[in-house]
Amino acid sequence: MKQLRYRSIAVGSLMTLSAIALNAHAQKSSGTSSGKPLKYFQGLSCSTVDPRSIGMSKDGTVTNAISDPRAIGLPKDTSKTRALADDYFLWDVGKVISVKFIDNGGSYTLRQKVKAAAKEWERYANLTFDFVESGDANVRVLLTDKGGCNSVVGSYATGVPADKKTMNIDTNFFYLKGVCYDNYLRQTIQHEFGHAIGLLHEHSYKNKIQWNKEVVYKDALETNGWDKTMVDFQIFTQYSSLYTNGFMYDPKSIMHYGFPAKWTMNNIEIKPNFYISQGDIETVGFLYPKNGAARPDMLPKFNLSNLTTTKVVKDNAKKGLVIYPSFNLSTSGRTGKILIIAYLLDSKGGTVLSKANPNNLVGVVKGGDLKPGTKLNINKGETNFELVIPFSEVPDNLLNYKIFVSIKMIDEVNDETKYLASDEIPYSAIK
Ligand SMILES: [Zn+2]
Repeated sequence: MKQLRYRSIAVGSLMTLSAIALNAHAQKSSGTSSGKPLKYFQGLSCSTVDPRSIGMSKDGTVTNAISDPRAIGLPKDTSKTRALADDYFLWDVGKVISVKFIDNGGSYTLRQKVKAAAKEWERYANLTFDFVESGDANVRVLLTDKGGCNSVVGSYATGVPADKKTMNIDTNFFYLKGVCYDNYLRQTIQHEFGHAIGLLHEHSYKNKIQWNKEVVYKDALETNGWDKTMVDFQIFTQYSSLYTNGFMYDPKSIMHYGFPAKWTMNNIEIKPNFYISQGDIETVGFLYPKNGAARPDMLPKFNLSNLTTTKVVKDNAKKGLVIYPSFNLSTSGRTGKILIIAYLLDSKGGTVLSKANPNNLVGVVKGGDLKPGTKLNINKGETNFELVIPFSEVPDNLLNYKIFVSIKMIDEVNDETKYLASDEIPYSAIK
């Protein structure tokens, strides 16, 4: 595969402004209806979004087709996984996470129960859930009677537009005929708030479960209305053995789905877990240590937010297409490299070869090291960053092309690439 040549390296320190994490979540409705509650407890409890496979578009929705670099043959996100969750979407140790119930969801009593269940995580993790009545909140919970239960993972929530929920709690998961089953409520809430602090599904531990896929597809379609793609993602996704809720596979984790024996080839049943397990406790203690300890294994952590429309201009003075991506970025952890890439796609979405040098793709890359504590305000208010694709490289008669912009972080110490965001600018929007 052809490689983009790096045209220039330098992302100066470009002004300031704070930023937080990237990304929204694409939630498919799990197709639950209020008529059949307890059935879900058996196997399927919630849907989450893999923060590593998606990116945010400008309106906060997620479109895998354009934002997943793998879809267009770019190197995939190679960030390794540590302990349990994507380290990039963990909250800072000691973080006070504000939480708000939105849209008048839930009674006072229900809210109190949710709050109590969520707060149990505070006993083990150096985090605080601060339930607020008004104003902005990091985590926005909709208590409702539809939509299944799901949550964005960790600090991902801060990239969700402020007027949108980050967690959906479908009370059918614990109400049956008007009766609230508190153990199911606690299970559901602690699982979802587990996601909210960065935990992923324990059954995604690599090579632990020998799924009988045909049976699972059939059951999940019947009970949850999940199609094959949804099942593949929610149930069959596997992360590396370190990308779990513990350092060892923990079938007792609150983050593990329960399922019947017939779902596995070797007849292993996983009973639903109703409590935060010892493994969960150790894991969150590692990720969010108490007593002022720092989280071990600090990585470069880039938080990209506020990605807005990329402006592209045909600039005769600069003899090229001038591209102005627009976003905020803040960094923590340790030094990493940012790469901002723009390249041409033809009308079919294929990459385009350079007229001047047919060995190269038509594109441009800028990048540079960013130290922790850096705050960038890229093309916000003032124009301070540009990428140029010379006209001389653009083939003649290229109809309806697009510019694809991809922003990623490179951790050279671990030889990892972390995909941060992307944007696609159609020919018609080029000025
Ligand atoms: Zn879940």
